Formats: sequence, structure tokens, C-alpha cells
Amino acid sequence: MSNHTPSTLLPWQHSQFKRLQMLASNDRLAHGWLFSGKPGIGKLGFARHFARFLLCRHSDANGPCGRCQDCQLHAARSHPDSLLVLPEALQQQLFPDDNTKTKEKPSRQLKIEQIRDAIEFAQSTAQRGGTKVIVINPAEAMNINSANALLKILEEPPARTFLLLVSEQPGLLLATLRSRCQQLGFTAPPTNEALQWLQTQPGCPTDAEFYLQLAEGAPLHALKLAADKAGVGFRQLWQSILGVCSGDMTPVQAAKACEGLGILNAVNYQLIGVAGLLVSNQTGTTLTLDGLQPLQALCPPSAGIGMIRRLHGLHRSLVQARITALATNNANALLMLESLFADWATVTAVKPARRSQGL
Ligand SMILES: [Zn+2]
Repeated sequence: MSNHTPSTLLPWQHSQFKRLQMLASNDRLAHGWLFSGKPGIGKLGFARHFARFLLCRHSDANGPCGRCQDCQLHAARSHPDSLLVLPEALQQQLFPDDNTKTKEKPSRQLKIEQIRDAIEFAQSTAQRGGTKVIVINPAEAMNINSANALLKILEEPPARTFLLLVSEQPGLLLATLRSRCQQLGFTAPPTNEALQWLQTQPGCPTDAEFYLQLAEGAPLHALKLAADKAGVGFRQLWQSILGVCSGDMTPVQAAKACEGLGILNAVNYQLIGVAGLLVSNQTGTTLTLDGLQPLQALCPPSAGIGMIRRLHGLHRSLVQARITALATNNANALLMLESLFADWATVTAVKPARRSQGL
């Protein structure tokens, strides 16, 4: 993950910061906030930056001072009045030096004990300046019991205690929790601004534009994908799907070829492809993302409304697969991929290769 995640205000977040800073300066900041927007645009970094702003006793309109002890403690992630709640898997990904690696597969869900700790933290006395801040990311990784427990903090918020929930999918949150929070939306910057920023970053790939497209415009996500060399896997996935669609591979063979990508990547890349095909089929434009062009011939706009309906159906299956993959640690990746690849063959109306081939 890029080194921007910990605590940075990015150039496209100034208006959001200004709004919160004004409220805080006037002592009118709500106790509960929900920061929402797509992945990879810097919401968590923003939340942590704002937490530091609240804890720093020399903050001004430009932000936290960055020099005082509160700022330094916060930067070292040892401020006693700041709590960052992350699922194990994300904790290990963002802070690999913490040595929190577990033998088992780390959880992508927030555990009820983590939320109980957060509630206890909220109800305890602040140790330094009197302000306490809790950041929970992603909020949708709480189960319903955790969300209900957390609701208590928002119903009777302890003085000068702020809860910042960060979410990619606010629609999945408990409605009562959502309604208790003020909402602040985040969007990706325009492409040219994102590219300009990417070019100033260490680790910016030479094909930054490809990665920005792959990340659907989210600059931090683009950096992460580039660091993971995701382009290789992306092209491999589409070659396999093309193989299935042209009858050269069975869905089983294709799924095996793509297993190493991880189910979430494999599903996300397909979502990008289907979204691109839907746009190009509905507007008559050409797919520009490198690796996807051959697919256009198999799903041509001339196939009309039937094709668009099938693509929509596939999109629904992929969204469902994404939810399953996110919700469980042991989703059967191979079976899920097989089933999705078989769907692709149906969409393009090409007979899938017979199972006997090459098996
Ligand atoms: Zn400071």
C-alpha cells in the first residue's frame, strides 16, 4: 500500500477538510461522521489526518501543526486518545512492520471484541487534551451486533469524543447507524489531476494511465495495483476469458489458470471489463483499456439489447460474487470462477469447450 494511507490530506480533499475544520473551529462538529466513497481515493488517510487535526492543540485552518507532542504521538500511532480500528487483514497490509501476522488467514471482518474495545475507549477519560477520536475502517466490516453496540456511543456521545466511520459501501451499513452520522462524500479527482499527482509519486508506473483506468480513476488504488504488478494478472484473466468465449478453454481450465490472482482481484477485474462493455455497447464507443479490446469483437454493440441484458445479468452475478468473497474467508474461489467463466460463454453465446477437452 502506498505510504499515503497513514495520515495525509490529498490535493483533492481540501473542500472536505475545510468543511470539517470550520465546524470544529466553531465547536459545532457532530460526534459521528460517515466518510464514504470508492476505494483508493484516500478516505482513511483523510480520516486519520482529521483525527490528528482534532487532537493537535495548535491546529489552525491549514491543519494540525505536525510538530507538537500530540502530532508526533499520532504519527507514531501511539497517541492514547486516538483509536484506529481495522480488520486484521487490513492492519497487516497497511502496517506490515507491526509484527501482528497470524498463522491463520487474517480476518477481513471487524470482530465484536474490537468494537467493544472501541466503546470502552469512548467511555474512558481522555489522557491528554480532552479530545478522543475513533476511526473505524471499513465500517461495513462490522456485523449487525457490533453496529448495534456502536450505536450506543452515538445515541449518548461522551463529551469531545468523535467517531469517524469510513466506508466504501455505506448502503451496507445499519440504517440506524447511518442516520446517526453526518455524511461526507469523497470522489476521485478528474483524470488529468490524478495523473499529475501520480507522476509525483514514488512507484509511479510508466503506464500510469493504464493503471489509473484499471483503478477506475482512484489514484491510490492505481499505485497499489502498479506495486502489485496487477497488469500482468489482469491481462492473464482476460486471455482466459477470451479462451473460454472462443471455445479454446473450458471454464475449469480457465479458473485454474486464474486461481493465483485471488478471487477478489479476479472478480474486480471482471467487473471493470463488464462495466466497460456496457458503456461501449450502450454508447457505441470503443473499449480503450489495454487487454480488453479483443473482447469487444465477442460482445459487439450490433448484438443489440439481448447482449446488454446478458451483460447486466453477468454484472449482477459478479457483484454477488464480490459480496461473497468479501464476507467469507474461505469462499471456494475455484468453483466461483468456474461458474463465472461459464456465464461469460453464455453471454457471448459461444458454446463452451467440452469438458472432455484437455482434461
Ligand atoms: Zn500538533
